[in-house]
Amino acid sequence: MIQSVNSVPAFDIKQQYAALAAEVSSAVLEVLSSGRYIGGPAVEDFEQQFAAYHGVSECVACNSGTDALYLALRALDIGTGDEVITTPFSFFATTEVISAVGATPVFVDIDATTFNLDVTQIASAITPKTKAIIPVHLFGLPVDMTALMAIAQSHNLAVIEDCAQATGASWENQKVGSIGHIGCFSFYPTKNLGGCGDGGAITTNDSAIAAKLRIFREHGSKIRYIHEEIGVNSRLDAIQAVILQIKLRYLDIWNKNRQQIATYYYQHLSQIPGIIPPQELLGGEAVWNQYTIRVSSEERNGATSKYRDWVRTQLQDQGISTMLYYPLPLHLQPVYKTLGYQPGQLPISEQASHQVISLPMFPELTQEQQDKVIYALKDCLS
Ligand SMILES: *Cc1c(COP(=O)(O)O)cnc(C)c1O
Repeated sequence: MIQSVNSVPAFDIKQQYAALAAEVSSAVLEVLSSGRYIGGPAVEDFEQQFAAYHGVSECVACNSGTDALYLALRALDIGTGDEVITTPFSFFATTEVISAVGATPVFVDIDATTFNLDVTQIASAITPKTKAIIPVHLFGLPVDMTALMAIAQSHNLAVIEDCAQATGASWENQKVGSIGHIGCFSFYPTKNLGGCGDGGAITTNDSAIAAKLRIFREHGSKIRYIHEEIGVNSRLDAIQAVILQIKLRYLDIWNKNRQQIATYYYQHLSQIPGIIPPQELLGGEAVWNQYTIRVSSEERNGATSKYRDWVRTQLQDQGISTMLYYPLPLHLQPVYKTLGYQPGQLPISEQASHQVISLPMFPELTQEQQDKVIYALKDCLS
């Protein structure tokens, strides 16, 4: 595809690599010549650094954010007959793992400005079968963890934070992933801390849970060739671990850039009628993995995505790439027909899926590029 020099991509991971190329390639070459490709000091050092960054005692690295969530559920012994409360407005992996362990996802609608689980609706979804809550810090905006932990504690539920889009975010000065019982992270290349391939990690302050996680990620085995559980093979490669060690040192700078970009977007986009910009809660520090606005117009604000799709096309015609997170909420996914949810049942999520547009957002995005996005939106909404 030929892109004009004036085009604005939705994200640009090549630019981030270019800035670190020398540092990253020499670390990777060192791993290659060491012959230690699985486990070893590279992975252990990364686990220690990631735990320290979060102020937790334990970090267990694994192969992806999806595996992190899966392993967390296994370590908590959640399975057949259990219910897990979560959001319908997330990437499919969040609930795929609940189903994969044999449990049932129970969906609670979202809050319209943060796109996160509406914490006030959790209590009425709790049943005797409920075992855990999975809040997702979607787009890098932290969930109100104070309110959520209070509900979880009063009902004796485990909390697994899905931090895949929120590495570095915090709630009341505590890093997300260190507040619930378990935090799950993804190092997919476009996440705030992204590797050069798949990767994930789990944080916890509970050493018994950490020990179980280590057993499940290694074929259910603590002592080689002695298997206590049916586990999986889910390890972080040494090559990814050294790359992530380097990138972790830049994470706060990149997140600061994202915050500045979000502030600038908000200043300008909140002036445009028909655009609803995202807003983080007081008490949270968001890290803006995505900057997702909603577009609506009085006459075209029905239960379809036509107007949003039209706006996206207008932007694309001007060389501005946008993303669609997410076009269909999880409770209405074909695979979840058997759960019995009906259209209209979780109206805020459904409306969001018709109205959202994720704008270009990455640490290297220039003000000139941002202005282009803002002017283009002004143009087509006025
Ligand atoms: C990316 C993502 C995941 C899955 O992470 P992978 O590393 O791609 O497996 C889970 N939950 C959310 C909210 C995500 O954005």
